[in-house]
This record gives sequence, C-alpha cells and structure tokens, in this order.
Amino acid sequence: MARSEPRGRAAQLDATDPLRALRARFVLDDTVYLDGNSLGALPRDVPERLAEVVAREWGALRIRSWTEAGWWTAPERVGEAIAPLVGAAPGQVVVGDSTSVNLFKALVGAVRMADEERDEILVDAATFPTDGYIAASAARLTGRTLRPVTVPEIPAAAGPRTAAALVNHVDYRTGELFDLPAVTEALHAAGALAVWDLCHSAGALPVELDAAGVDLAVGCTYKYLNGGPGSPAFLYLRAEHQARFDSPLPGWNSHADPFAMDPSYAPADGPVRGRVGTPEILSLLALDAALGVWEGVDLRAVRAKSLALTDFFLACLERYVPGALARPVTPEEHARRGSQVSVHCENAAEVHALLVSRGVVGDFRPRNLLRFGFTPLYTTFADAERAAWELGRALDPAGEEAR
Ligand SMILES: *Cc1c(COP(=O)(O)O)cnc(C)c1O
Repeated sequence: MARSEPRGRAAQLDATDPLRALRARFVLDDTVYLDGNSLGALPRDVPERLAEVVAREWGALRIRSWTEAGWWTAPERVGEAIAPLVGAAPGQVVVGDSTSVNLFKALVGAVRMADEERDEILVDAATFPTDGYIAASAARLTGRTLRPVTVPEIPAAAGPRTAAALVNHVDYRTGELFDLPAVTEALHAAGALAVWDLCHSAGALPVELDAAGVDLAVGCTYKYLNGGPGSPAFLYLRAEHQARFDSPLPGWNSHADPFAMDPSYAPADGPVRGRVGTPEILSLLALDAALGVWEGVDLRAVRAKSLALTDFFLACLERYVPGALARPVTPEEHARRGSQVSVHCENAAEVHALLVSRGVVGDFRPRNLLRFGFTPLYTTFADAERAAWELGRALDPAGEEAR
C-alpha cells in the first residue's frame, strides 16, 4: 500500500499535538473511534468513582448521601462544572433530565416570557427530530404557530410576531456550524428570545453564551462531554431571565422549599428553577467524574485541533476516496464547520457496516450520509487518515493500486 506520504504527515501532526496527553485519560483500543459525537468514550477515572458511589454512597450511607455525599445539590454543582465550557458565569446552569425534556422546558419557558401578541415560534427546519417534535408540541400548548425556517433565514424571518426561536448551533447531519452570536443578535433585534441547542458544540468548540446574550440553551452531555449513555442534559437559564422563568414542568425539586412539602408551588431562585424531580444520581455522578478531564483544557486549543483534524481528514479523503464515489457535505469554511465531517455516498448503511467490521467506527444517518465525529481530546491524526483510507477501500476495492 502506498500509505507512506500522508501517514508520515499524520505521525508528525500527532507528535506535535498539544492535547496529545489527554488521550491516555480515556479507555480506548485500536479501533478508530469517530462516533464521540454520538457517545463519547469512557474517561478512565469514571469506573472507580462510580464503583465508590455505588458501594459507599448508595450501599453504606444510603439515604444519608442526599446530604452527606452532596447528592441533593449535585445538579447545580455539576452545572457549575459545565458552565465554563459554554461561556456561562456561575449560577446559570443546572443538570438533569434528558435533552428532549430540557428543550421542552426551555422553549415553553421562553415563549411564556414573550408578549401575548407574539404568536409565532421559529424552529430550525433541519433540526434533530426530537427538537422539531417538541417545538410543535410547545407551539400547541402555548397557542402559537410553529414556523420551520433554515438557520440562515432566521434573521429575515424574525419579526414582531416572533416569540422565540429554537436553533441548533451545529447541524447534526451535515456538521454545519451556525453563527450563534449573529443569529442571537438578529432575534433580539426583532424582540424575540433565542433558545439554542448545543448538543453538537458543547465540548467540541468554544461557546460563549453570556457574551452572545443567549436567553436559554440546552446541551447534551453524553456526546463531546463524555458523560456516558443517557447522562443528564444541561439547561442554561440566563441570570436576568431567571426570575421570570415559568417552568412548564414545576416539580418539587425546583420548589423554593422542597422539604416543606407545600401543596402550592413557589419556584426557587436561580438555575434550580430548571429542576423537576429526583436527579438521576448514578449517571449524574458519572458525568461529574467524566468532566474531570476538562481541567486546565483550553477550548481554543480544542477548536484548533478539531479544525486541524477535519482539515486533515478532508485532505485524506481527497487522496484516498475517488470524488465520484463520495462527497463531503460539511462546509470547507472553518467558520461554518463543527467537529464532524459528513460524507454523502451511495449505500451508506452498508458502507458504514463494512467500516465497522474493519475497525473504523463512525455512524450513518439516512439517507446516504456517513458521519465522522472528531473529538479533539482523544482522536488522533492517524485515526483520521485510517478512516479515510478504509473508506476509500470500502467504496473502491479495486482501486488499491492508486492508494
Ligand atoms: C443528541 C441530540 C439530542 C438527544 O436528545 P435526548 O433527549 O438525549 O435523546 C437532541 N437534539 C439534538 C440536536 C441532538 O444532537
């Protein structure tokens, strides 16, 4: 195989990567794992911490752990660990429930803050299905009309009728990154609230929620934040809106005095107002331990490596994959690229299965889109090259000579 030239380049890039030491903090093997945008790899510190939580906090302390092990306040504490990763000052992030549930809280909460005559909700037309379903339900519940538009259309679409918009920071299919500050500013200029879905940006690139004036945001923790399967999502409630946030799911955990067992509801102050019921302690504390890998990590370095990885992968695709057989759909422009590269090809499901059997794990989305997620904390340039090479071999088995 004629792999020597770019392979030398991969080795050089890996050797000079300032984040290379972080890979050792994850449990990995010799498969090329490019699906951290769906389920992040396991950080090494998690199993031991989780075993301790089970044996000591649950097994021995039992009910006492709600206070003595800090279980009760864990949703806020873990929120504070996530806050700096999304550009949020303390006191605005809480963790609990799924992304879907938090999207519901955030969008209905936003619409309830808007004036009555604002009768329309905008939603990113290409959004992840759950976001679209929830936006439709939120519209019905609040008596508004849902209007799907593309993200670039939002500035023109937002107007005096717009209550709020639910927008994805990165498109989960194409990997396109949208201009969060500009779209937020356009929504505010129209008097509307901006609700952002950060599922594919939190932990992948710098997000500046406070600086951009974002109103509410929701993000997933089991993708680039490596919290583990089903780890609870986070909710950002901008400080200035907290007193007006009227949760559509007021539970006893968001009550000002939960243990008073008061039959009437009085919301707590602060991000606690975004809680609902008993937190999912085991997955929440797994996430807490997983977040340890971010200590001292500069998100600008993460972004720089992410772009270097995706640039290199795109170059390797050009080298190894005949252009007629596969076409990247992720924008070339850095300002419009998230941390994945999506490739359009025929029979993507079969190609994906073949790649997995050869040790390259990405994923695919209908129709005919292969997704390769680059998680800068543990993906190597050698991974990027091997994935492109195997894709070339899968699509064009006869072209071995050329490679
Ligand atoms: C991953 C993802 C979700 C997942 O929602 P869950 O409630 O955790 O299943 C939702 N929205 C987007 C945009 C996602 O990428």
